[in-house]
Amino acid sequence: PRRILSGIQASGALHLGNYLGALKRFTELQDQGAPLFIFVADMHAITVWQEPEKLAAQTREIAAAYLASGLDPAKAIIFPQSAVPAHAELAWIFNCVGRLGWLDRMTQFKEKSGKHKERSSVGLYTYPVLQAADILLYKATEVPVGEDQKQHLELTRDIAAKFNNDFGAPGYFPLPEPLIQGPATRVMSLRDGTAKMSKSDPSDLSRINLTDDADTIAAKVKKAKSDMDVLPDTIEGLEGRPEAKNLVAIYAALSDTTREAVLAEFGGQGFGAFKPKLAELAVSSMANVTAEMRRLMADPAEIDRALAAGAEKAREVAQPTIDEVKKIVGFWQG
Ligand code: ATP
Ligand code: MG
Repeated sequence: PRRILSGIQASGALHLGNYLGALKRFTELQDQGAPLFIFVADMHAITVWQEPEKLAAQTREIAAAYLASGLDPAKAIIFPQSAVPAHAELAWIFNCVGRLGWLDRMTQFKEKSGKHKERSSVGLYTYPVLQAADILLYKATEVPVGEDQKQHLELTRDIAAKFNNDFGAPGYFPLPEPLIQGPATRVMSLRDGTAKMSKSDPSDLSRINLTDDADTIAAKVKKAKSDMDVLPDTIEGLEGRPEAKNLVAIYAALSDTTREAVLAEFGGQGFGAFKPKLAELAVSSMANVTAEMRRLMADPAEIDRALAAGAEKAREVAQPTIDEVKKIVGFWQG
């Protein structure tokens, strides 16, 4: 049976990449009849320092974004990761299944640890193992994510396969597939068309935050790096023009159309004409989401109710699996 699961880290302001690559996708998946688990990854967030007095608010903010972008707690199971202890229990077992060599190949750790590898937390290194636990605890078969998570999904599959094999439990864990679809699976920085738009980029001009107001969005789009040429008539004409390619992809994703259709409309026009249209579209598409997020955040009772109910449902699904896994591993049973 299909089971869909994904999450976003509770580590700061959400941006257009998260919206197009994750949030918008989640809502599209809630009416497909398959159970949908969407969690707030607060345990992943603390792989880098988070102020304790802010973390719960950050968790509520991600939950608010889920609700505001259209996730319905009656259809999707929305919960904080840390409210289901089995994530940590399964992650430990998977730490003993995964191999150091596999983790050594993860490019995200290399990017995030930068020059200070030896001062990074151990958690930042084993983060993909916790991610495997997040997914396999619910025996998820599909994981909607952006391009940047593809490598981690492959690691999840390796861990599932090795667990099934080592413990003589063929097919126990499914090998989940990443769902990476649509025109904006990798939204790039507005300042550099070759780098991913990221929460952790020090330049605020590099990204459009979900909480930016209309003037800020317009200013950031206007300042976005582009080139002097007009937009081409075909996709091939975008090759070698990463910034143009990115802005066209963003426009297509925001207007639920294809890049071909965008070029059919704007081919032959320069960025002076295209950018104001893009800014207008970004403002109008995100305005409802941000307004609803602000409304929810003003009185978090509704958010907290959704999270508490989701956590209870998630624990109900997770418990039989973690009990069974402990038995498979050979832990003492009282
Ligand atoms: P950080 O820089 O702290 O890792 P992030 O911006 O990468 O933050 P995450 O919480 O790690 O955000 O990712 C949440 C979801 O958003 C994931 O599914 C991820 O693939 C997706 N995502 C992140 N950045 C982009 C992007 N630039 N384009 C498309 N999807 C993205
Ligand atoms: Mg990330």
